[in-house]
Amino acid sequence: MNTLGYHILARLTAPASTSPDQKAEFGRYENQAPDYARSQYMPDLVTDHLPEVVRREFALDPPATPDDVDRITPDDYRAFWLDHVEREPWDIYTIAEDMAARFDINRGWAFKTARQHLNQLVLQARMRGYREERLAGRRFRWGGPEADHPACQWIRSQIPDEGVPYHDLVDLMQTAKHRFVEDPPSSVHVVHDWCRHEIREVQ
Ligand SMILES: [Zn+2]
Repeated sequence: MNTLGYHILARLTAPASTSPDQKAEFGRYENQAPDYARSQYMPDLVTDHLPEVVRREFALDPPATPDDVDRITPDDYRAFWLDHVEREPWDIYTIAEDMAARFDINRGWAFKTARQHLNQLVLQARMRGYREERLAGRRFRWGGPEADHPACQWIRSQIPDEGVPYHDLVDLMQTAKHRFVEDPPSSVHVVHDWCRHEIREVQ
């Protein structure tokens, strides 16, 4: 563990009456800890799916940085989150501390960002988890008429006869849309304008 890790561990396990400035910075947040503040409070459904969400569905904008600090690239920001949610236990305080240290931003700003972004990732993980639980073992194809759009032709070319799991098909739809469609529709369920293709279960 690095020095920062020890520092955080010491602070988290120390009695409440340590140095006053630590209390001032975190006190008001700790009183309103959200239920997703620690991985231990989360169902497996969420913790199991978080890394995959960060790998495949990550859509968070990195926090803004002060003028004299390098901008945070989306890749670095995603790698940062992956690093944290891959290892359990995680908690929002460590994530916020590390975010402030890693990207050289204000601790309060890092905490606000971490709180909002962790919430969003947890929500996505929950959705992914529910979807998979309900759809576990079932396989899907890209149904409908002959594909006349390159995006839909590509989707079909990626799917074997036995179909693919639901979330893989949704990922293919998003990839196809970004690769082959100029000015793509904003709905995640629409690949291109006038598309008549749809998700069908393979029987
Ligand atoms: Zn189509």
